[in-house]
Amino acid sequence: MSTNPLPLIYDLSLEDLTQTLQTWGEPAYRALQIWQGLYIQLWNTPEQFTNLPLPLRDRLATSFRFSGLTPGAVLQSSDGETIKTLLTLHDGRAIEAVLMRYDERNTLCISSQAGCAMGCVFCATGQMGFKRHLTSGEIVEQVLYYARKLKQTDERVTNIVLMGMGEPFHNYEATIAAIDRLNHPQGANLGERRFTISTVGLIPFIQRFASEKRQINLAISLHAATDEERSNLLPVNKRYPISELLIACRDYVEQTGRRITFEWALINGVNDTPETAHQLANLLKGLLCHVNVIPLNPTQKFAGQATTRTRAEAFKTILEKSGIPCTIRIRRGIDIQAGCGQLATDANQSNPVL
Ligand code: SAH
Ligand code: SF4
Repeated sequence: MSTNPLPLIYDLSLEDLTQTLQTWGEPAYRALQIWQGLYIQLWNTPEQFTNLPLPLRDRLATSFRFSGLTPGAVLQSSDGETIKTLLTLHDGRAIEAVLMRYDERNTLCISSQAGCAMGCVFCATGQMGFKRHLTSGEIVEQVLYYARKLKQTDERVTNIVLMGMGEPFHNYEATIAAIDRLNHPQGANLGERRFTISTVGLIPFIQRFASEKRQINLAISLHAATDEERSNLLPVNKRYPISELLIACRDYVEQTGRRITFEWALINGVNDTPETAHQLANLLKGLLCHVNVIPLNPTQKFAGQATTRTRAEAFKTILEKSGIPCTIRIRRGIDIQAGCGQLATDANQSNPVL
């Protein structure tokens, strides 16, 4: 573990890399060669860059780190479709990244922060508190890590959701920079539509995101239909109450023409009642949106339990009858602590998990 490490090469944009190479007196095309090595060939050691002259390879090796994440515990769900990896950062903090292989997709769920400052009571990451922001390169590297694994079987990452640890809009610039880097047409070339940012509802950043008119998908963690209930579950609601949040959502849809996804963790007897479903339908009336309900993944420090299948179906039916599309997401891989933050909680408390 090093406290003052070399710069991480994935923290650089192509422009940054080009500038660095310029100061080294290298021709401009070398930057593109390195960029393509990193993001197309998926190389992660300087020695692999055999298309570069040896002195340049050596200079890269002494100037940059090519790895900011050390894979630790790997957990696989019993159906083999979900793989979760604990990744340790250079300062010893732990994050998690999950690969879900179904519906003919390879979807990654990645982290934007170590821990989270938002304190949602049912969330394992919220329960551990905020540790630090990830750099854009640390966000990028989670994707490269799985892209390399998938490449071994000639597969690719198809979708990426910012639904791992952390609140991406609390780390807005690094999150967007990471997506831009992965989106670059001369590199990884992952289209913006393949990405989904999930936010707890930080209104100023929803507004900023709307004004940027990107094609990245937006998901909002709603979870409750009254301010009293939502503030109990998501303390951030005291600052950004439901009415203001929904105004920001309506503005977003108006500005971008894009549909919003609302996330709703169904907690037995708390927010899964028919009355709540009607309240929610009322709130979302006329808004271009979709609701994803997920039975709660129980966590150590929250007494709530998951809803039942029957109650989830009834909730969905009420929304649909009111014209609000709804999908029930079963948290696959629940048997591998795939709920956000659950594996890293153990690691950050240094309880070995395997
Ligand atoms: N901070 C962002 C993204 C990470 S959390 C956000 O809150 O949206 C990703 C999703 O998992 C959010 O919808 C969050 O509310 C949900 N979530 C967190 N803990 C959960 C749990 N124990 N059971 C079900 N969903 C959970
Ligand atoms: Fe943070 Fe999202 Fe967890 Fe809330 S649900 S504590 S915002 S990671």
